[in-house]
Amino acid sequence: MKLDVDADELAACVSCGLCLPHCPTYRVTGDESASPRGRIAAMRAIEADDRPLEGAFTEFMDLCVQCRGCETACPSSVPFGRLMEGSRHTLTESTRYQPWLTRAAYRSLRHHRLLLLGSSLLALAQRARLVPRRFGLPALPVRRTPLKASGDDVWLFTGCVMDAWLRPTHANTLRVIEATGAGVALPDDPGCCGALQAHAGLMHQARDLAERTMRAFPGEAPILVNSAGCGAQLKDYGHLLDTPEATAFGARVLDVHEWLAPRIATVPAPRGNHRRVALQDPCHLRHVQRAHLPVRTVLAPFVDVIELDDEGLCCGAGGAYSAQHPEMATAIRDRKVAAIARTGAKVVASANPGCALWLRDAGLDVRHPLDLVAEAMDGR
Ligand code: SF4
Ligand code: SF4
Repeated sequence: MKLDVDADELAACVSCGLCLPHCPTYRVTGDESASPRGRIAAMRAIEADDRPLEGAFTEFMDLCVQCRGCETACPSSVPFGRLMEGSRHTLTESTRYQPWLTRAAYRSLRHHRLLLLGSSLLALAQRARLVPRRFGLPALPVRRTPLKASGDDVWLFTGCVMDAWLRPTHANTLRVIEATGAGVALPDDPGCCGALQAHAGLMHQARDLAERTMRAFPGEAPILVNSAGCGAQLKDYGHLLDTPEATAFGARVLDVHEWLAPRIATVPAPRGNHRRVALQDPCHLRHVQRAHLPVRTVLAPFVDVIELDDEGLCCGAGGAYSAQHPEMATAIRDRKVAAIARTGAKVVASANPGCALWLRDAGLDVRHPLDLVAEAMDGR
């Protein structure tokens, strides 16, 4: 069976094993099959022996969190994320991987008004205690304060689930950007970036959403993103769609901290004691966008940043991963929670909504960095 991967990229792995300690599923299991090297060996075996895609191969691929911690550790620059997305794409095309209900759930994310309505109904069901706690959902808002555009210097990408569940973080992000003197434009039809669909191997859905997103942000202005997973996906549209327009679009995308870092001195900082905040680097900021350092620059005038000692190991959230593999995701999270506890900080900053919600589910007080900056600006 041919996988939808580049043969040269698959051949680039020299099986050195340097990535193994950076792989969260390998750290939990100690199994080669749950490591990047083992997964690449499985991909090669499928291709070399022209084997059918049997159950074990699907399980090996499906257990990967797609954190891409292996990429930053790899001396041979193996693009593991692409290999995994391509393998999963072949699985979705050739097997029953991603059944119709899952595909329909991913497809529903493109209908933003419906998503907001469904989220509000779910919030009401939560209030009536009709949603079991084992679903792991945060307390959802019934209503959301509308966001107001203030100019056209930059765009703010608002996304799908984050806009439905974490609108106050968007409002705080707007305030911090505006404090630099810039005006912010908002899309008429905010939508999903396609990251979850690409990770699931549903590349047709991901491409469709990418084209739609590109239409929602016309012009040349930078597109700022306050969700690490969405930012990584938007920056990758050139590879996903393979067109000059998509490449140019990706070049306009910045994580909001990348844009703010050189301007942060223009934002009024508070006097007095700063609170101590443990900083969790989302994988898609640290290992994929490699844009985790600007978060420190942005936070430094407002809080005392405490570093974790786990070299950016994944927290187990992984988009939909924590819902699909709760036991593995929890075992991975336990290590992150222990690393946070070692800092002694009572508050955690995370620039990705998925990580924040997953860590909050473990009882931690997790905030977006720009929530903390906005609160500090207010003297709260
Ligand atoms: S992406 Fe993450 S979970 Fe998957 S093989 Fe690489 S390090 Fe392991
Ligand atoms: S993916 Fe990179 S680090 Fe991991 S075994 Fe292959 S060459 Fe070594």
